[in-house]
Amino acid sequence: MDLFEYQAKALFAEHGVPVPTGKIATTPDEARAIAAELGGKVVVKAQVKTGGRGKAGGVKVADGPDDAFEKATNILGMDIKGHTVHSVLVEQASNIAEEYYASFLLDRANRTFLAMASREGGMEIEEVAATNPEALARIHIDPLTGVDLAKAREIAVAAKLPEAALDGAAELLAKLWETFVKADATLVEVNPLILTGDGRVVALDGKVTLDENADFRHPENEALVDVAAVDPLEQKAKEKGLNYVKLTGSVGIIGNGAGLVMSTLDVVTYAGEEFGGQRPANFLDIGGGASAEVMANGLSIILSDPSVKSVFVNIFGGITACDAVANGIVKALELVGEVTTPLVVRLDGNNAEEGRRILAEANLAVVKPVDTMDGAAKLAAELAAAAA
Ligand code: GDP
Ligand code: MN
Repeated sequence: MDLFEYQAKALFAEHGVPVPTGKIATTPDEARAIAAELGGKVVVKAQVKTGGRGKAGGVKVADGPDDAFEKATNILGMDIKGHTVHSVLVEQASNIAEEYYASFLLDRANRTFLAMASREGGMEIEEVAATNPEALARIHIDPLTGVDLAKAREIAVAAKLPEAALDGAAELLAKLWETFVKADATLVEVNPLILTGDGRVVALDGKVTLDENADFRHPENEALVDVAAVDPLEQKAKEKGLNYVKLTGSVGIIGNGAGLVMSTLDVVTYAGEEFGGQRPANFLDIGGGASAEVMANGLSIILSDPSVKSVFVNIFGGITACDAVANGIVKALELVGEVTTPLVVRLDGNNAEEGRRILAEANLAVVKPVDTMDGAAKLAAELAAAAA
């Protein structure tokens, strides 16, 4: 999960990373009140989960409360790279002497963590990496020893930060690493990291990606979710503990095992080309123990998606045998109630024969058994096209 800048900065502050004082506003009046409270010059910053806000006109310095009101009026509602601005961060303006760059991230390719830092900050770091690669220091972090003050200083020196910024940067980097570890982040990025006119080092911007696999350790993360941006079907699926991702097509997909579901998406996309470009409507992995209840929950979510015109249930029986899944489908259809959307069912693997017999015996009009994955994908796409 990516955080908004204001959330990233709150997390930084919690772990002792210096950030400017500020508050979030959703109306120009609120922006004015915050500016009055802060006093002096303030910065009004669009809160959207994309970079380049400054260039797009989403970051403006204001002289005082009335100017903050005006800047907020302009920025709220603005579209930045397809993201609508619903809130602005109003914070004390900083006196910037220099702008640097610093980040910690999970380096998957090298199976370790990486610190990146540069004396060249403020601009896009990809640009620095491309045009001036020696200006970007990359230092691997041993997860067992992490980043203490000495390691943090080593990073700051490698980034060629000036003497005046070294102490402050080292302290900030050590705290930033602590944030990264404690919050279970896969990325913490500060661009720009600034040296102020009075010699302090401060995080002026913040980007944080949290590892959702660690959510169980962070009940507090729930409050960080941008509810307005969450797909309602995905939200419902999450509440039911289902691995569901909404896609844009017309063929609902249910399978067991992430790999099988991924290949089902491919096969359906391929088969759909022949039928006017029918595509998968979702990803849904019901996992190993596909009980009737899990099947019913999955089906009800998929069937409540108005763009779903057919469903492809693709099961490869392993530990959970096909007869159990077939019984699950029959019971699920009872539980869901009146279903008119056709359900193409392919059962293979452990006890496939028995599973197919159960489906045949149940004699359900909406269930269309097909023995092969390709054949089932084709029928599902064809039925979706016919219903469109
Ligand atoms: P981004 O464009 O989305 O990365 O947004 P940033 O938060 O990085 O802000 C962009 C730029 O605005 C920074 O690089 C600064 O040059 C400028 N800026 C942001 N806050 C302040 C501030 O408090 N004072 C001044 N003078 N400039 C600021
Ligand atoms: Mn930035």
